[in-house]
Amino acid sequence: MERPCKSIQELVGELESRNIRLSHQRLMVLEYMANHTNHPTVDQIYVDIQKEIPTLSKATVYNSLKALVSAGLVSIIPMENNENRFDIITTAHGHFCCEVCGNIEDFPVNIDTCLAGLHEGYQVHSWNVLLNGICKTCKKAEKERKFS
Ligand SMILES: [Zn+2]
Ligand SMILES: [Zn+2]
Repeated sequence: MERPCKSIQELVGELESRNIRLSHQRLMVLEYMANHTNHPTVDQIYVDIQKEIPTLSKATVYNSLKALVSAGLVSIIPMENNENRFDIITTAHGHFCCEVCGNIEDFPVNIDTCLAGLHEGYQVHSWNVLLNGICKTCKKAEKERKFS
């Protein structure tokens, strides 16, 4: 498992300092996100958490994510196939989506450089850098298949 960007204690502390209290389910979703930095879908989160809380509904997971997004703790990665992925890392970065394995990798983006190309007078509300292609691992596997 990858290292989470912030610990669950830090995240909860951040919320409490803004007077936001999380229900048990929302806390479960936040905890899951902090431990899974691989940009899961709602379905993945639901299936995994349901193993621990069988009474959990998908709507609860969805609503919890929505609340965490509006609190600024989780961001949404809009995908072309409409199956949005969720990200606990909310600092500026772009995503590379592999068309073969479906993995999403993070890479740094300098948003100031991007915005410098925009004429003055525009108001930007959200942004999303998404690259599609084949990742290094899948590219290597493809090459090996060709030569074997
Ligand atoms: Zn891949
Ligand atoms: Zn990300």
